[in-house]
Amino acid sequence: MSHPSTLTSHGPTIAEVDLNALQENVRTIKDFTENSRLMAVIKTNAYGHGVVPIGRAAVRAGAARLGVTMVDEGAQLRAGGIDVPIHILSSIMSWQARDAVRYDLTSSVSSLELAHTLSREAIRQKKKHQVHLKIDTGLHRFGIQPEEAIAFCRSVYDLTGLEWEGIYTHFSSADEGDWKTTEEQFALFLETIEKLKEHGYHFPIRHAGASTIAIERKDMHLEMIRPGIALFGYTPEERQSEMISLKPVMGLKSRLLHVRELPPNTSVGYGNNYVTKDYEKIAVIPIGHGDGYHRALSNNGEMLVRGRRVPIVGEVSLDQTLIDVTAVPDVQEGDAVVLMGSQGADTISAREIAGWMGSIVDEVLAGLKERVERIYE
Ligand SMILES: *Cc1c(COP(=O)(O)O)cnc(C)c1O
Repeated sequence: MSHPSTLTSHGPTIAEVDLNALQENVRTIKDFTENSRLMAVIKTNAYGHGVVPIGRAAVRAGAARLGVTMVDEGAQLRAGGIDVPIHILSSIMSWQARDAVRYDLTSSVSSLELAHTLSREAIRQKKKHQVHLKIDTGLHRFGIQPEEAIAFCRSVYDLTGLEWEGIYTHFSSADEGDWKTTEEQFALFLETIEKLKEHGYHFPIRHAGASTIAIERKDMHLEMIRPGIALFGYTPEERQSEMISLKPVMGLKSRLLHVRELPPNTSVGYGNNYVTKDYEKIAVIPIGHGDGYHRALSNNGEMLVRGRRVPIVGEVSLDQTLIDVTAVPDVQEGDAVVLMGSQGADTISAREIAGWMGSIVDEVLAGLKERVERIYE
């Protein structure tokens, strides 16, 4: 993340990113698979962890490929010196084809128009462009319908400049543990590949599974798995946390910027949403919903100070959040506060925060804005 070079210090609020944990997670997930290669899915700025440092660490730990959803993320990774295949796991607009080819990204193709545009660009830039055919088996976001796959290949498979290296699908209901639907989608995917093969259309790399499949269904790994959230230390669902041992990669820390004691019956923060019951010590933490620390945490969440859990009080504002530190002995301005991670014997996980927010771990991590400085260790 960009940081003005004239500053000699960082602010009190930081996200610590543990690259060793990331690398351990890559190796742990790799141990779950036999011969499949691992694509580290690091879209959305690596689920908020920083796409270039995470991309580098993942490759060092043995990820054969990287997956993103934006051409810009692919270009950043190339600029960061990464030379493994980088997949764009989304469709792109035709005007982006030029950059996709220029940065040697691997495109997902699910429209005739994009196939033709990529072919024209590859010819113009005198390159072979790697493409993977996306099959829609039920998620209904992108992808060719299985029954249209042969006709589709008939019109684009032989286009100059394109190399059909792979074929893939993305399941709609694996995280929910709906194996009936997932097995049907998997069977449909394999059946489609068989039919294509009979017509002479070959795709050496077949892939379907994200984190859930990587952890729970070895039989669906095929030539490649595509874990995302698991790389960052969280299984998609609680039920999987006993099946694999992953380490959280991100911690969120700050300091008590200000502490004051308020008399009983004092309104705290915007909108009269919290009123002190007694003499209470209220501390200001410099993070707010402008940083991605969600408003849903207003009067509804906790932080750790001196190893104790303390409640968030009042409304989370753009830049500030208030906590009640009355119960913390010897509490002082400047004390370290942990918003996510461990302090003393206690831990607040992204999953717990997601629970308070009524959301999922992905949103907690990926929602943290770039203005929260990432410190890599
Ligand atoms: C996001 C994504 C993944 C990774 O999903 P996780 O559940 O985070 O492991 C894999 N494949 C595709 C196509 C994706 O969009």
